Amino acid sequence: MAPTGFNRFGLANSIVRGVREAGFETPRRIQNETIPASMKGQDVLGLAQTGTGKTAAFTLPLLHRLKEHRKGTPRALILAPTRELATQIAKEIHTLSKFTGLRIVTIFGGVKTRSQANALRKSPDIVVGCPGRVLDLMRQGRLVLNQVETLVLDEADHMFDMGFLPDIKKILKAIPRQRQNLLFSATMPKEIRKLADEVLKTPHVVELANSAPATTIDHALYLIPENRKRDMLDHIFRADECESAIVFVRTKRRAKRIADQLRKTGYKASDLQGNMSQGQRDRAMKGFRERRFEILVATDIAARGIDVSNVSHVINFDVPGTPEAYTHRIGRTGRSEQSGIACTFVTGADQKWVRATEKMIGKSIKREKVEGFEPDIDRKPQATSPRGRKRPGGPKWGNNKSYRGRRRRRAS
Ligand code: AMP
Repeated sequence: MAPTGFNRFGLANSIVRGVREAGFETPRRIQNETIPASMKGQDVLGLAQTGTGKTAAFTLPLLHRLKEHRKGTPRALILAPTRELATQIAKEIHTLSKFTGLRIVTIFGGVKTRSQANALRKSPDIVVGCPGRVLDLMRQGRLVLNQVETLVLDEADHMFDMGFLPDIKKILKAIPRQRQNLLFSATMPKEIRKLADEVLKTPHVVELANSAPATTIDHALYLIPENRKRDMLDHIFRADECESAIVFVRTKRRAKRIADQLRKTGYKASDLQGNMSQGQRDRAMKGFRERRFEILVATDIAARGIDVSNVSHVINFDVPGTPEAYTHRIGRTGRSEQSGIACTFVTGADQKWVRATEKMIGKSIKREKVEGFEPDIDRKPQATSPRGRKRPGGPKWGNNKSYRGRRRRRAS
């Protein structure tokens, strides 16, 4: 029996079997709203975040079309911003395509090209990759994309943030003009709007992403000085309901340092940051998924795209660079309609960010007060200066320049 709701799309039986294999019973909204248009060959613009079910939304019609007549050359190209997201997409496609005989290859930088080049020799039907490495392999003549019929740009805004737009434009020039285009983006900055206008022909537009975080996430700001953040982290970890957490920090070094400190104090923690090799990053992600690590201390590398179920807490140890990044980060919890808790540590220097973020999400974020951590604006902090001397005066919330300077130095 076909899974409820997926019958109506007219997908081949082998694909419906894959849907069942994935355990999907009812189509998600993004699937209901994009699959019919995509099945007809129409371009799609999906304003939706990772976590909404967009991978299956773009994959199912694509599999249906590809399995009709295999050509032994890539006919679908899916571009994604990070290795982690590319791997995650490929994994889901493997499951959904299990009974179709279609081949998938994943391509990303940071590892040797040889195994990817070997995989490309085996006539894949679908290539999932990050723009930089895709372009490299195209230039080397190892990846030929002159038969591509469907292009998917996933997390287009994130690809733009990561500076991939020039690479994407070069790839676009090298693939057939006659093709179907599916573009997914959580936000629509003007550069992505422009790209969408250039790439998409009379697209079917579906807008799911509003900037508001999922309603299943209970999120709050913790007003604390910089030097109490580590104590607050311990306080949150000690709470009964904290089962697994992603802690977001500003810099790669900071991620490593905090993960090291946590390990020394007995937590099962790993860092996930851009200075790590691909192997180390994979092990960190796998360990976190499999619950060998209960805490992942990450830079924004992990803010989007990563879909790990049952992350009970997201903790913004440092506020993210932009208000948009806030929704991406806290969206790592409360996934698949489960509940989640997101805590953001806010210092006096972050007030501008708070105002911008609240403006973006259209409401104020709850301020959480924790006994012993009250932001007493008159109290002098116990912090020492960078040279180790006791500071003569303390920060005044929101306007102390020397305090902000100290914060920057400590973070570097
Ligand atoms: P995505 O937005 O593609 O990252 O999807 C988020 C998660 O939802 C993934 O773990 C998918 O496997 C899962 N998912 C996608 N579609 C469905 C569905 N119709 N029913 C249940 N889970 C789904």
